[in-house]
Formats: sequence, structure tokens, C-alpha cells
Amino acid sequence: MGFEPTRAYSAQGVSNPPQWTVLCDSSRLLYYNIVSILDLLFPKYCVGCKKIGDYVCDACFAKIALPASVPCLVCNRPSFSGITHPGCKGRYAINGVIPSVSYKGVVKKLIYAFKYKPYVSDLAVFIASLMHELLIQNPVWISTVRTKPTLVPIPLSSQRLRNRGYNQSEILAKELGKLSRIDASSLLLRVKDTAFQSKLDRKERKKNVLGAFAMLDQDPIPKTVLLIDDILTTGVTLFEASSVCKKAGVQEVWAIPFAVEE
Ligand SMILES: [Zn+2]
Ligand SMILES: [Zn+2]
Repeated sequence: MGFEPTRAYSAQGVSNPPQWTVLCDSSRLLYYNIVSILDLLFPKYCVGCKKIGDYVCDACFAKIALPASVPCLVCNRPSFSGITHPGCKGRYAINGVIPSVSYKGVVKKLIYAFKYKPYVSDLAVFIASLMHELLIQNPVWISTVRTKPTLVPIPLSSQRLRNRGYNQSEILAKELGKLSRIDASSLLLRVKDTAFQSKLDRKERKKNVLGAFAMLDQDPIPKTVLLIDDILTTGVTLFEASSVCKKAGVQEVWAIPFAVEE
């Protein structure tokens, strides 16, 4: 993929969200005053090197890399552009992965902060803006968006949701939906609490997530679903969520993880 993240999006980032640009000047002035007071009280630190100023400083941002390869979620071997191999395509198989960045260095810290720190909504805007900037340069995303898709976050288990208080993928889906003007809807439910996946191998993980999801009744069923998740590790969760969507009647399903573990 021959594109690179730039900082062009930062003009629409944390300190200048696009929804504010429609407000009248006095409201905007009030907003900026509040923002500067908040910046003084709670200054932003780079999640990578702790430099004051932004959540990711320019030096750390420059180190963010695109994934060198993306796995086919059916056979786990590398796939050109993330599209499921023609030989792996089955009736309910996911169509492919449209990734943004590689799960390395500052991206790891960014995702950790997004999951466990209190400034989630700011980070969601930051991450969604970066995702959006990269996705709109990806030909697979461009052609998929033409099919009027729905963004669907991967739901958390109820235990994790209780512990964390929010689903980071749901927040990400909402922010990305605003930027890309695509509907975001929590159409998937967790119907089975799954054991923590980190200590399981791929085969055990597959077994673990089997039957974990159900799709809410929809009329009409969306033709295309884009599954939003913060990170793709083995891909078994996205694969299972996709097959649930396809069995419910969705024609095309793509995984849209922010970061891909390589
Ligand atoms: Zn930094
Ligand atoms: Zn394959």
C-alpha cells in the first residue's frame, strides 16, 4: 500500500472537532476558552514519550507504520490487500480485512491508553481520524463504502464491559461513522461470555468464541457490514462475528481493525 499517515487530519483533531465548525463564532470562542482552560488543567502528554502537547508527538507519530502484511482470516496466511483468498471463500466466510496501522511501538501504547485511561473520547477522535485518513486512501474501502455499509462494533463480554465501563470499539465506530458519514449501529450482541483469549492458541480461541455473538433482528438487513475493532490478533473473533452476520443475511462483511498484530 503506497500511502502514509500525515498529520493533515490534526486540524480536525482533538482541539478542533469538525462538529464545532458549524457553530456561531461566540459559541466557538467559548469552546476554545474551555479547551484552553482544560489544556492548562489537564495537559496532554504523548503516550509514546511523555512529551507535553499532544497524545502522540510528531517524532512518535512519524514511527507509526502500516502493516507489512495482513492475514487472510480463513487460513491465517498472508493475503494481498487483506482480501480473503479466492480458494478460502466460503458461503459464510468474511470478505477480508481493511487495516489501518501495525500494532507496534506507540500504537500499542495508544491502544492501551484508549482501553484503560479516562481520556477515552479524546483518544477516540484521534484514532478514528487516523483510521479515516488511511482508509479513504485504500481502494478496497472506497469500493466497499459505495455499497452503503453499516459500521458494527465488536461487542465486549458483559464482564469486561462491567469492569471497563465502556466498549472502546463502540466509541471508535461512532467517531469513524461521523467522519466517514456511515451509519454506526451496535447490531451484534455477546450472548456468551468467553474466557480470556490471551493464553489460548488459535484453535482454542476459535472454539472459545464459537456461539459468542448474535445479531439483532433488523429489517432490512444491511447489505454490507464493516466490523470495527481496535486490534486484530488472531482474527478468530472477527471471523466468528462475520459468520453470524452472514448467516443473518448480510451479503458482505469486512473487518476494520485499527491495528494489526504482525
Ligand atoms: Zn512522543
Ligand atoms: Zn486464505
